[in-house]
Amino acid sequence: MEERNKLTPEEEDRIVENEFRDVLNGYLASNHRKKVEIIERAYRFAKEAHKGIRRRSGEPYILHPIAVAKIASQEMGLGSTSICAAFLHDVVEDTEYTVEDIEQHFGKKIAQLVAGLTKISGGIFGDKASAQAENFRKLLLTMSEDIRVVLLKMADRLHNMRTLGSMSPNKQYKIAGETLYIYAPLAHRLGLFAIKTELEDLSFKYEHPVAYERISEQIRASEARRASVYNDFSYPIKEKLNGMGLKYEAKARLKSVYSIWRKMENKHIPFEEVYDLYAMRIIFECDDVSKEKAICWQIYSAITDLYKLHPERTRDWISVPKANGYQALHLTVMGPDGNWVEVQIRSRRMDEIAELGFAAHWKYKIGEGEEESELNAWLATIKDILDNPEPDAIDFLDTLKLNLFSSEIVVFTPKGELLTLPNNSTVLDVAFGLHSQIGIHCIAGKVNHKLVPLSHRLQSGDQVEVLTSQSQTPKKEWINFLATAKGKTRLRAALRKELQPVVEKGKEIYEEFLKDNEVIENNEVVTKVLGAMHFQNKEELFTALGSEEAVIPPYLAKSLRPASSSLFSKILRPLKGKKSSNAVTVPEKEKPEINFKETYILHADEKGSNFIIADCCSPLPGDDVMGWVNDDGEVELHSLTCPRAQVLKASYGKRILNTAWAAHTGKFLANVRIEGVDRFGILQEIIQMISMHLAINIRKLDIEAQKEVFHCDLSVLVNDTQVVTDLCSKLRQIKGVQRASRVN
Ligand code: MN
Repeated sequence: MEERNKLTPEEEDRIVENEFRDVLNGYLASNHRKKVEIIERAYRFAKEAHKGIRRRSGEPYILHPIAVAKIASQEMGLGSTSICAAFLHDVVEDTEYTVEDIEQHFGKKIAQLVAGLTKISGGIFGDKASAQAENFRKLLLTMSEDIRVVLLKMADRLHNMRTLGSMSPNKQYKIAGETLYIYAPLAHRLGLFAIKTELEDLSFKYEHPVAYERISEQIRASEARRASVYNDFSYPIKEKLNGMGLKYEAKARLKSVYSIWRKMENKHIPFEEVYDLYAMRIIFECDDVSKEKAICWQIYSAITDLYKLHPERTRDWISVPKANGYQALHLTVMGPDGNWVEVQIRSRRMDEIAELGFAAHWKYKIGEGEEESELNAWLATIKDILDNPEPDAIDFLDTLKLNLFSSEIVVFTPKGELLTLPNNSTVLDVAFGLHSQIGIHCIAGKVNHKLVPLSHRLQSGDQVEVLTSQSQTPKKEWINFLATAKGKTRLRAALRKELQPVVEKGKEIYEEFLKDNEVIENNEVVTKVLGAMHFQNKEELFTALGSEEAVIPPYLAKSLRPASSSLFSKILRPLKGKKSSNAVTVPEKEKPEINFKETYILHADEKGSNFIIADCCSPLPGDDVMGWVNDDGEVELHSLTCPRAQVLKASYGKRILNTAWAAHTGKFLANVRIEGVDRFGILQEIIQMISMHLAINIRKLDIEAQKEVFHCDLSVLVNDTQVVTDLCSKLRQIKGVQRASRVN
């Protein structure tokens, strides 16, 4: 600080300009389109706006935006739009200029990025760091429609961490904590491995300065010995790889200070006992992506010829890349000194993806100069990901991660607590979320201090207060604007409780009716009554009867008596002019022609199917089913295990059809429920499984995690039941998944 103050304004300006040149030159050397003019303009604008302002360290403020732009460009591989936004990222917050000004000068896209960065700059984040971290991460993602906002936020944070030394100690502590809880995991999820490691190390340095110094010192002290062990180990490998004619780079990768410390803490061991202090990394050059996999395994084989392989520590992230896009082949072998050494094998391309995250992925996917359109395409994939049948695996995973978050919103309670809710949640969801009693007595809400109806839909960042009244009672219609499962369950329970006396009364009326007409109750009777009166289930019927909204029509009694089969005979009566007594064609057009002697082939196409699926058991194509000709002459399919099918067989034997599935029956929606114990990365693994191994079209994905347990409801479009069975058995092999099965 002292030194800088001695600089003349001219000298200082030269430093600033040089830093800017550096950013520009780095950009010009990259693959991106050369949009120098706008970058230069953004820089001049920011420099003028921050003129005369200094950072705590005493240096001109503009050096910070320049550094952020440099990280965005050189460490993340981002293009001109991001570089401009990085230059301008603190302008709206710290100067007189508004987002509108930025838009006027630099267009909508850059203005949106700056607005996004300004929006999430606030100190919402309090002292409950760890408890709120996950929510905050979600907030960050849901509030930023453009992933670049998150990346730039990360670059901003990285530079602040690199210069944290000039902050006051209590600020250092707070910022380091936030970084460790929020930004490092986020960097990890986005595949920004190098940045994640640096953020962790820097946070650790400020949170545990003594331990940081001690471990750093121990690393330095053990360097010479480590180098000689590494040489002994790597020499034979290099010899062999040279002999194979490979072009490669081999280096010892030292574990980060933070991860050494974590290992010492978790395993309660001293520094000397951390044996995997370093890993050997082999990065080979290869222009042909299709050959990478084979080369990896050739190297693997060369190494295992030399050293003894640890049987359980081979990690093949080439065939199945990690959720964040990481690809490599890892193995662990016994070194000459008797310690296990990890070897990581990657191509140059894989290495860049590991270091730069998905930004590098773009680089390999696109030609020069397509930066904007490619990014837009990438963002569009996020939006319609669920309709996209077989996207490229890494793309799919990267985008889906964001999609998981965008299906949720995060709101604040008046006390500043964060609540995570599904999209489209309302004030009423918040009320039921807090307590059943608050839910059923909810009359309205206040959102951002404005009075709103209880059906008001919330948005991320809203502050929500629930208003109640003791005179309020739960309403049936509320179910229509509840988005949370909790809300719905609690409302239904409340309604049931309210309705209990009415239901009881309705049941009495129904039973009396049957008794008066000498009808014995069975499934068939119930079905007929429900069908004739258009109710879905007994509860609805009883409620209507009990509240006197409906009465059982007296004529129904006749058709309920066992002797009566009037409906049945009507259906089976052959049509005039038809010869076969077994052929039944129902008068209304479009109904299938049925020959009970032959196997009825079930088929479906875009125009429709020649069968309908029974609601009670919802069988899928491929399931063992029986057909039953219903009162409307349609072929209704029941699963053979369906209890209702048993009843039908007993009472309508002649209307049962022998059926078989046509080879291509079209696509059907199947629901799969997955339950298990939540752990880091499990969701990604599940999604990976679905996307990599099976050509499955995901239509819906709902994930709910509560403490250590998660539920996941998946709707997939499949050709037949075998695909679903395979999927479930594969899912069950994932560690932590306790259940995966089809549900109706
Ligand atoms: Mn900043």
